[in-house]
Amino acid sequence: MLPAVAIVGRPNVGKSTLFNRLAGRRAAIVHDTPGVTRDRNEAEVQRGELAFRLIDTAGFDDTKDGLAQRMTEQTRAAIADADVCLFLIDARAGVTATDQALADTLRRSGKPVILLANKSEGRTADLHDAYRWGLGEPIAISAEHGMGTVELFEAVAPLLLDARTHEANENEAVKPLKLAIIGRPNVGKSTLFNRLLGSERSLTGPESGITRDAIAATLDCDGRTILLHDTAGLRKRARAAGHTLEELSVASALNAIRFAECVIIVIDATQAFEKQDLAIADLVIREGRAVVFAMNKWDMVAAKAGAIGALREERDRLLPQIAGAPLVAISALSGEGLTRLLPAVAAADTAWNRRIPTADLNRLLSRAVERHPPPAVRGRRIRIRYMTEPKARPPTFALFGNQLKALPEAWLRYLQNELRANFDFGGTPLRLLLRTAKNPYDPRKS
Ligand code: GDP
Repeated sequence: MLPAVAIVGRPNVGKSTLFNRLAGRRAAIVHDTPGVTRDRNEAEVQRGELAFRLIDTAGFDDTKDGLAQRMTEQTRAAIADADVCLFLIDARAGVTATDQALADTLRRSGKPVILLANKSEGRTADLHDAYRWGLGEPIAISAEHGMGTVELFEAVAPLLLDARTHEANENEAVKPLKLAIIGRPNVGKSTLFNRLLGSERSLTGPESGITRDAIAATLDCDGRTILLHDTAGLRKRARAAGHTLEELSVASALNAIRFAECVIIVIDATQAFEKQDLAIADLVIREGRAVVFAMNKWDMVAAKAGAIGALREERDRLLPQIAGAPLVAISALSGEGLTRLLPAVAAADTAWNRRIPTADLNRLLSRAVERHPPPAVRGRRIRIRYMTEPKARPPTFALFGNQLKALPEAWLRYLQNELRANFDFGGTPLRLLLRTAKNPYDPRKS
């Protein structure tokens, strides 16, 4: 079934006019007295690659008389069914108590909401109160005159994609987790590999879902299958093909990273975070994989007191992009600490797959902008209208607004840190996409 987009708003804000504008036909009864459209109107909308069911709701009203009550229930039902809600307010009339009540309802629903200030073709009222709802900056439209429709569709598109990938992600959870063990030579990768597999060692591959070159072993972690990339097996093959050891370690690390969803970076705890360790971590960050650090040869660390805290600090200082990534002290040789390793992998994988509802993201965005407004560029304020997470694995966020390319690095880092701190992303690499709207008010295209 096509995803559903519901138009909601109090009576007379222009819902039916917008419905007709988007549906491209005279479907709803438009009238200037409040409450004319009482039944749910539906139309299929196709625009480029975008296709959805558009639902016009009866006017929302928070007074308690019979008809208004029924309409309220209808609106709630439509919101519950919708993948995306278009929340219409009247830019000419300004924000009313009913708008406020509806904003609360929408926010509580957790559905992605696009806030639209209709009747914006002429002089508009002060919409300051609407900015406080955490629903993003309102898009100025005029349903009557066809203004802002382009920008409206641009706003809807990623949110619908959002709804679809949510479904896809739910199916992902049952798939085996692809894991690789990487690190510079001699840190103990093969020892760890053999230790993890123990007596169950079962080399399988190539099989479905594994590339022809990769050899994978399977192991079980709390009922979930883990496909472990076997670098050693690969090395033997590559060596047979006549490559040098140097070429091999880079090529095999890259192969392993590409194969994997989560990567264990093995580090020699007695010589931690050397240049080559950091170069390997950089590769992993660039490929956007979930990371777990295994601090190996812990049996050789002389002063253990406080050592792990110091290593965590070093990790955050040297690799700020994945600050907080799980770090586990192990001895592959003795087996010490290994019981904590796979749970750390599972936690890293969960964070890597995490999807944050758009409403929560925009609440965070409003707070972040309020606390540290982005600077003005050549006298113009940088406007960030809203944020979505169009995909996970790794979590990828899209920012929409104007002049976003001018956002300073430091501000983007600040936003990433806020995301990390508020949504428990641990040390998962995060990505930010900056999307600047083309010409939102071009009436010719609507
Ligand atoms: P790889 O090149 O990363 O695969 O490293 P190997 O697994 O071949 O290990 C290199 C050397 O480190 C071998 O001599 C291992 O016995 C040793 N080693 C691996 N893990 C540990 C450990 O936890 N403690 C100690 N003391 N030695 C280890």
